[in-house]
Amino acid sequence: MSRQMGDSQRRFLQTMMACGIVDEPGARRLYQYCCETHNTQQAPDQLDDFIDTINSKLQPLFMQIRKGISEDSGHQYYALVNMAVTDVTRMSSDYADNELELFVKTMDLIVGSDNGSASSTDILNSADTLTSKKLKKSETEHLLNRLVHDKWLNEKRGEYTLSTRCIIEMEPYIRTMYQDQVKVCHICHNIAIQCQICENPTCGIKIHNPCVARYFKGRPEPRCPACEDFWPHEIPEVRRPLSQSRR
Ligand SMILES: [Zn+2]
Ligand SMILES: [Zn+2]
Repeated sequence: MSRQMGDSQRRFLQTMMACGIVDEPGARRLYQYCCETHNTQQAPDQLDDFIDTINSKLQPLFMQIRKGISEDSGHQYYALVNMAVTDVTRMSSDYADNELELFVKTMDLIVGSDNGSASSTDILNSADTLTSKKLKKSETEHLLNRLVHDKWLNEKRGEYTLSTRCIIEMEPYIRTMYQDQVKVCHICHNIAIQCQICENPTCGIKIHNPCVARYFKGRPEPRCPACEDFWPHEIPEVRRPLSQSRR
């Protein structure tokens, strides 16, 4: 099969470059739109093939469109990833050195926490320990807003988590830097940061909240899929697929 990139693929890539990340229904709509606009034949189930063709052309540029899941909702996303730079220096065109240092400290707090989040208070306190140029409280708050706006962090009621984009793009970095802390989800095998943990000290497997919801749905008694101990955490509701939920 020929792997030539046509106008429809070029348009798809341009949009990905502009927005960085799209959810799966959004990627399907964009795929359909690009094919219709350029009169390219398209089959509904060929999105991944379409993206494979783009990826084969991106390879020499060390770029890739990669799939990942949201730890919040379990929904699937596509992100355009720079494969050449896997650490935070990929953000250096948008952020100063001390801002990146604070972002790394925020990642340390989030990955090192039990529930995969860090409070604004903890982040503000860690701003006092910067070795590069110090950030004032107002500057730190402004920076956190920018990191949320640029889709590196999520924020809910003063608690910060790593965004889906951040996890997809920085997965190799996170796996290397936090080897001892990071595990993969027992159900979906993606890296697990916001998750529930088996309390059996000899087991300790991690499962994302949406994976917990799906796995335990309809089971009379929640038991750890690895050690069979009682699963003591609250079982969240299964979320509706994105295409059915209102936004
Ligand atoms: Zn999972
Ligand atoms: Zn267990």
